[in-house]
Amino acid sequence: ETPIERKPEWIRTTAKMGPEYTKLHSMVKTEGLHTVCQEAGCPNIFECWEDREATFLIGGDVCTRRCDFCDIATGRPEALDRDEPRRVAESVAQMGLRYSTVTGVARDDQPDGAAWLYAETIRQIHEKNPNTGVEILPPDFGAKPELVGQVFDARPEVFAHNLETVPRIFKQIRPAFTYDKSLKVLSMARDAELVTKSNLILGMGEEDHEVEQAIRDLHDAGCDILTITQYLRPSKLHHPIDRWVKPEEFVHWSDVAQEMGFKGVMAGPLVRSSYRAGRLWATAMRQ
Ligand code: SF4
Ligand code: SF4
Repeated sequence: ETPIERKPEWIRTTAKMGPEYTKLHSMVKTEGLHTVCQEAGCPNIFECWEDREATFLIGGDVCTRRCDFCDIATGRPEALDRDEPRRVAESVAQMGLRYSTVTGVARDDQPDGAAWLYAETIRQIHEKNPNTGVEILPPDFGAKPELVGQVFDARPEVFAHNLETVPRIFKQIRPAFTYDKSLKVLSMARDAELVTKSNLILGMGEEDHEVEQAIRDLHDAGCDILTITQYLRPSKLHHPIDRWVKPEEFVHWSDVAQEMGFKGVMAGPLVRSSYRAGRLWATAMRQ
């Protein structure tokens, strides 16, 4: 193992479990519910669950695309599970969540890219949980208006689509996406009058001026909320870690984004795009 693979001090969490987390944890166990928070071993679980926020993955556990930072398996997925939206909405209700993030795999095997599945999950969560915010984080649906439009029509509180990296290394990191299409999807969501959000992962080989440009491109595309995170390599088969971004550099990028006019920014070594998403949304709405 090369020294760069060793995590620096600031990557370790110190958060402790609180009463809400403890309640949710035992309930999720007895009810056999599935969350990304637990299944991905997310270090922020004590904080997010204490706020009654959690993340769900839809569309199965096999993706038709292969991004070089992502731990989800690539291959031919199973048939779409049309009962999944109902079950996710049930889980949100059972957990009594205040805010739910729903992400999922790319389903390029489906004629609609699974746009129906994303839209239906938003509708079902809203129907069964009228006070719970839904943040949807789907793939790009090829930026096709008739597909993204289905998801917009379900009116999520936040429409998120992650840009993740800068143009120079984009093809290598996200071969089945394009930088411009990802920006376009965000612009389309902005034009549909939705609150929009994106994420950038640092530590994959990008340079400072490129980060600044990507933040600017996102702002110009109409992105309201931004998270900036540290790349963690899932395995040796994934993109190598280029560097560990220091906490003060995250503060710098956060300042840059705020000055540019983003309504909500969260940046840090342990931040995930769904980290304290409900709080961040509430902050952005006050602006
Ligand atoms: Fe992972 Fe999403 Fe890329 Fe699929 S499209 S490999 S789920 S990041
Ligand atoms: Fe769950 Fe996201 Fe929070 Fe991690 S950051 S605990 S995945 S909601």
